[in-house]
Amino acid sequence: MRFHVMTLFPDMVMGGLDTSIIGRAMKQGKLEIEAVNIRDYTRDKHMKVDDYPYGGGAGMVMQAEPVYLCYKALEEQIVSKNGKKPRVLYMTPQGKVFHQRMAEELAEEEDLVFLCGHYEGIDERVLEMIVTDYVSIGDYVLTGGELPAMVMIDAIARLVDGVLNNDESAKYESFADGRLEYPQYTRPEEFMGRKVPAVLLSGNHKKIEEWREQESMKRTMERRPDLLI
Ligand code: SAM
Repeated sequence: MRFHVMTLFPDMVMGGLDTSIIGRAMKQGKLEIEAVNIRDYTRDKHMKVDDYPYGGGAGMVMQAEPVYLCYKALEEQIVSKNGKKPRVLYMTPQGKVFHQRMAEELAEEEDLVFLCGHYEGIDERVLEMIVTDYVSIGDYVLTGGELPAMVMIDAIARLVDGVLNNDESAKYESFADGRLEYPQYTRPEEFMGRKVPAVLLSGNHKKIEEWREQESMKRTMERRPDLLI
């Protein structure tokens, strides 16, 4: 799977993703992530990519042309590789809120393009021309789309075959079956007087399974009852 991030801050994106499990998967060739600098596509002699908003108001707006040219170059590269236009996800607080099911659905794609805004956002006209999905990572406003893109790529990439080792399987985690995961423990058996639940040391797999089931349900009812509706 290939992730393409259109951004004004490529180092931020690559620095955040080229590490740990996702970095390992990239090195093993299980996924490709590239961050393309939108600024490379400006024709302005001062390399400007933003301007004042029409109608006045605070802040700057990213201009349509560099975003459009950047996307067109990417589109050509992607179409020549896999024969079809990619989905283009614009990171925006005005989008559909990202969740695990969406990550599962997006993990089926071969290529995904993430468009990161900055400042007050991007000129609406180019969004109308290239964006297929408007996605938010939650009801709050960040300074840019880079963190949202990184959050989404991390969540999607770990669902791609071979990215997680067997012992890191995504199958039993929170949201996989619409519930939160049971509590986890590791050595030592006792920490500052607190013991690991005895059933986990029993070696009885059926009992462990039942305990995890109950704990998962209890935790979901306590913390996220909305998931059970
Ligand atoms: N003026 C915009 C508004 O009120 O909807 C907010 C712009 S925000 C300061 C700058 C950029 O950050 C956006 O273009 C978007 O790419 C990104 N962004 C901010 N919050 C986000 C969120 N919750 N989810 C996804 N992207 C977000």
